[in-house]
Amino acid sequence: MVDASPGNATDRLVSRQRGQAPARLYLTALPAVTVMNYRHAYHAGNFADVLKHTVLLALIEAMQAKPGPFCYIDTHAGRGSYALDGVEARKTGEYKDGIARLLFPDLHQAGAAAAPSLPPLLRRWLDGILALPGNHDGLKLYPGSPLQVARRLRPGDSAQLCELHPDEAASLRALFQHDPRVHVHQRDGYEALKALLPPKEKRGLVLIDPAYEAQNAEYKLAESRPAEYRLIEQALKSAMQRWPGGVYAVWYPIKLRSQVQPFLRGLQRSGAKRVLRAELLVHPDDSPLRLNGSGMVILNAPWKLDDTLREPLRALAGLLSQEHPASWKLDWLLDESGSMLNTPSPLPASRLPRTPGRR
Ligand code: SAM
Repeated sequence: MVDASPGNATDRLVSRQRGQAPARLYLTALPAVTVMNYRHAYHAGNFADVLKHTVLLALIEAMQAKPGPFCYIDTHAGRGSYALDGVEARKTGEYKDGIARLLFPDLHQAGAAAAPSLPPLLRRWLDGILALPGNHDGLKLYPGSPLQVARRLRPGDSAQLCELHPDEAASLRALFQHDPRVHVHQRDGYEALKALLPPKEKRGLVLIDPAYEAQNAEYKLAESRPAEYRLIEQALKSAMQRWPGGVYAVWYPIKLRSQVQPFLRGLQRSGAKRVLRAELLVHPDDSPLRLNGSGMVILNAPWKLDDTLREPLRALAGLLSQEHPASWKLDWLLDESGSMLNTPSPLPASRLPRTPGRR
């Protein structure tokens, strides 16, 4: 995700290191370093959250289609709840091009005089948020992934939430202090996975939703992919060994398509039975300077999840378009029969004319 504060995380890391060591430091291989400047409060409810949390609801509903309890594990949980009238959200106003567009679909549905009503999944998602205490007089509070899931947990279900930042973790702990089904861990989410898997429930869902702040020297030099991808790949490899039957959902930003493709290709060989990818782009995927879109890739995705997500994605593309029509993609990178989609291909949006960067 993209930081709200001036300069991206790479620049800040580099300038920080520049103060400590000569420039040739960047020519040596450094381990990935995570700077923790990211605060989700600046981005809560934006177009990327709408995609992520809609897919999350579909996954939770798939888990709950069976009566047996399940475990939800959030490796990068955030603070759990965000005030849309708070300083951070007002500064960026990102939610206005995100969840707020769903409140008045008639205003935003591309080219439709009489817009169709929201598909049922989106309707349930939005209604769940509007039903939160604090939203009775209008949308004021945006629940993060932990709260969206926790409100739907059944008595036997449980949640394990990991958050490394002390302030965010403290807020998260306060939010769930009275819910014995929810456990908050102030620790590295990738490390925590090793201890938490497999869960005692034997069924469950892991959400990996990092801020993509882990950077290294090679990234700056080669303009290659963010180092966070390597952390995710390592975590998934170890998680799949411990718990091959778990469902794993990973959120990823789309800036340059070329940064995403190697990651998606690697997941085709992760040992998962099925891999589904859902993407939504509001800009062409050809600028490294801004968040053009985002995706959720799901390992061991529930059967027919693609059918569940198709209409919601189509509707979101109509609702969330900016300068150009938004585009979406929903496909099995690895399907039931073990066939792989050859190469995750660029979205149609990449053929759109390039527009000036915003961030
Ligand atoms: N999943 C949340 C949601 O959808 O509402 C948003 C999470 S936000 C994108 C990423 C969070 O990860 C930030 O709150 C950040 O402080 C936290 N974080 C960064 N590195 C982490 C790590 N290694 N382990 C756990 N949390 C981390």
